[in-house]
Amino acid sequence: MKHLHSGKVRDLYELPGGDLLMVARDTISAFDHVLSTPIPDKGRILTQLSLWWFERLADVVPNHVVSTGLPEGAPAEWEGRAVVARRLDMVKVECVARGYLTGSGLADYRATGAVCGVPLPDGLADGSRLPEPIFTPTTKADVGDHDEPMTLAEVEAATGADVAARLRDTTLAVYRRGAELALERGIIVADTKIELGWAADGALVLGDEVLTPDSSRFWPADAWEPGRAQPSFDKQFVRDWLLSPESGWDRASGEAPPPLPDEIVERTRAKYVEAYERLTGRTFT
Ligand code: ATP
Ligand code: MG
Repeated sequence: MKHLHSGKVRDLYELPGGDLLMVARDTISAFDHVLSTPIPDKGRILTQLSLWWFERLADVVPNHVVSTGLPEGAPAEWEGRAVVARRLDMVKVECVARGYLTGSGLADYRATGAVCGVPLPDGLADGSRLPEPIFTPTTKADVGDHDEPMTLAEVEAATGADVAARLRDTTLAVYRRGAELALERGIIVADTKIELGWAADGALVLGDEVLTPDSSRFWPADAWEPGRAQPSFDKQFVRDWLLSPESGWDRASGEAPPPLPDEIVERTRAKYVEAYERLTGRTFT
């Protein structure tokens, strides 16, 4: 296997024949830093959750999965967190859909009354549900850089109008299906990011991961209350701790965040497991 690339959480290898092997590590990133402390089992949880979703989205968009068995020669410790995938020519846009307003979308709205150029009604608060889901793409930044918002016109300039419309429609369709299914299980998908790419046969295919706590904001529906930050199923414990005086870390310093305390690691792992179990109805072993 030839090592091709290591992103924030995944390693990519080329298999004989041209397919990719994507291996998710237990690493967690926050505020555009890859943290030095892993979250045990996170790689397996995210891989299994993505596979579950790929199946449920198969009639919305084709996906890159070829098989989930470990290829010959792969270390046994990759079991459960490796996927053989078609190699795609990835679209250089991060495709984001939002059904609720928070985070960078909220900041954009407060500054401009719009998110990525999509105008929104007055009076929306942190956590508000949007009148309808919107497409809010960003640039695809290199490791350590921050993704920047793009307007649809900017995407059109980069890809052409036809492709931009397909990216938008596919992203919104994935969001709608995911949000609907998750809500039946008591989870609000506030927003999600997908990565699309071109297969050799010209098809637009869903790659990377999908509807995981790393790529999405998951909120417990029974605690949803616009007007404040929502409790969430993702890296919230990590983010909160890093920003607390206890961590001694200054986000503006540009320095690497400190190691996470055991308690934060355990609580974060439990959240990832809970999201997996609630969504899939399976028990994580
Ligand atoms: P980046 O790679 O830009 O740093 P990231 O840190 O989120 O982003 P990871 O998720 O760790 O990256 O690694 C996955 C990488 O593999 C991403 O760059 C993603 O675009 C790429 N990728 C995912 N699926 C495919 C595929 N089927 N074919 C080619 N590349 C893929
Ligand atoms: Mg990624």
